[in-house]
Amino acid sequence: ADKIRVAIAGYGNLGRGVEAALAQNPDMQLVGVFSRREPSSVALLDGKVPVYAMADIEQYQNDVDVMILCGGSKADLPEHGPYLAQFFNTVDSFDTHAKVNEYHAALDEPARKAGKLALMSVGWDPGLFSLNRLFGETILPQGETYTFWGKGLSQGHSDAVRRVEGVKKGVQYTLPSQDAIARVRNGEQPELTTREKHVRECFIVLEDGADEDTVRNSIVTMPDYFEPFDTTVNFIDEATFAAEHSAMPHGGFVIRSGDTGTQSKQSIEYSLALGSNPEFTASVLVAYTRAVHKMAQAGETGARSVFDVAPGLLSPKTPAQLRKDLL
Ligand code: NDP
Repeated sequence: ADKIRVAIAGYGNLGRGVEAALAQNPDMQLVGVFSRREPSSVALLDGKVPVYAMADIEQYQNDVDVMILCGGSKADLPEHGPYLAQFFNTVDSFDTHAKVNEYHAALDEPARKAGKLALMSVGWDPGLFSLNRLFGETILPQGETYTFWGKGLSQGHSDAVRRVEGVKKGVQYTLPSQDAIARVRNGEQPELTTREKHVRECFIVLEDGADEDTVRNSIVTMPDYFEPFDTTVNFIDEATFAAEHSAMPHGGFVIRSGDTGTQSKQSIEYSLALGSNPEFTASVLVAYTRAVHKMAQAGETGARSVFDVAPGLLSPKTPAQLRKDLL
């Protein structure tokens, strides 16, 4: 069968991850990368396809089955999504929760008009975690849903740590509070604030002559960022920092804790431990790209979310193969 022709719009961490993920899926083929930067300045992981100027993207309407949008949620996708839905079937990882319905409406109209399909907010959260929240609250209507994030690198808090005097290099990870998770798993259905759900952990390389206690104190007392949380500060050398703290890990848990008819306690738990947040998110985008292609071929148009995609469509296997292998 012909391969699904896929292109990438925006080439940052996620774009690189999509390139790598496509290489693991032989039924799909990367045909090009589009960037707002000067194409010759964009170095691909594996330079086998051309980089084109985003300004010329309309010219490639007939060469691409699905466009994967890899711009940032804050400033890029609100513009790229509705614009590109006029020309391509699209998949994106829009994650600004407060604006999901606004964004859906902005995609839906141009996509319908053009007879294209636009799948929004694909990834792990939103994305796989959203599906698991849906399973949880639908299957156990009497109960509570908990989402914990981490261990994950937090960009904003890492920047804040690096601004502390005496800090040469620093990163901050957010971790789920083990105590809070234990209470949820125990079926207590506690009411937890964001503060109670997470703890913060910093890894710091000091400037020459800087004092550990002074730096630690400046960090843990920083208002808003660290003061409200349980924060630990670890001091390490530069070699350890380079070896152990250069990746972008993330992950977390979705737990539904409920009870059924006879008061029996029931618990559903889904967890992710990700060595690289962007590479994993990209792998989810690529699986959903296959679904978008099948749905578009079947004549579906307009905006969709992960809730609208049947799981079997994610797989390269036929429905019969899936029943035989996985049912
Ligand atoms: P990046 O900042 O790495 O990339 C965003 C855009 O910035 C790129 O598309 C690229 O566009 C531009 N860019 C990248 N590198 C450079 C550079 N060196 N110079 C100039 N411009 C550059 O963001 P990520 O790829 O890490 O993340 C993208 C989005 O993915 C996030 O905003 C987040 O919303 C979403 N996300 C969603 C998740 C989910 O679970 N749903 C999980 C993780 C992320 P161009 O090529 O046009 O210049």
